[in-house]
Amino acid sequence: MNQGLTPTAEAVSKLIQELNKLPGIGPKSAQRLAYYLLRAPEEQAERLVEAIQSVKQEIRLCSVCFNVTDVDPCLLCRSDQRDRSKICIVEQPQDILALEHTRIYNGMYHVLHGAISPTEGVGTDDIRIKELMQRLQDGSIDEVILATNPNLEGEQTAMYLSRLISPLSIRVTRLARGLPFGTELEYADDVTLTQAIEGRQEF
Ligand SMILES: [Zn+2]
Repeated sequence: MNQGLTPTAEAVSKLIQELNKLPGIGPKSAQRLAYYLLRAPEEQAERLVEAIQSVKQEIRLCSVCFNVTDVDPCLLCRSDQRDRSKICIVEQPQDILALEHTRIYNGMYHVLHGAISPTEGVGTDDIRIKELMQRLQDGSIDEVILATNPNLEGEQTAMYLSRLISPLSIRVTRLARGLPFGTELEYADDVTLTQAIEGRQEF
């Protein structure tokens, strides 16, 4: 490191270190953000700190679908405008945002919080599969849409769930192959995602 660092400079390098841990933020971006915050008005920095604190303190997981929420059950699970006979299975809460943005799907969701990945040591008990199977017990669901990512882990998870759900005589569909293999749902554009939902197939 540079010589003659003042305490302030040390604080800055600490901030750079922390920003650098965020996804998609490399050392250069972290540096730029840190110096931006350094120059930003006090109130702006305080609002950022407050926003971070309140997501950590107020946001929890919906006890029904495991979406992130500040009310439990979440607004989607409470809504009487949604089709309760369909559940769309996604890996992450941000996938719900992507799908909702298309406005094509009006059913319920279930967030697994990950995908089965033997190489990364994520097994069937490490994601919310048990809770999903409980939701499917009361006979009110007639379609499950497997919207896990079109990559190796997502496919493995979809296969596993399909085998588990099929005996319950529930229709199991998978997003169509319009989505390029190896991508993640949250980065798909609206058109591709809309086609994928509309073209979903028996799985
Ligand atoms: Zn919910």
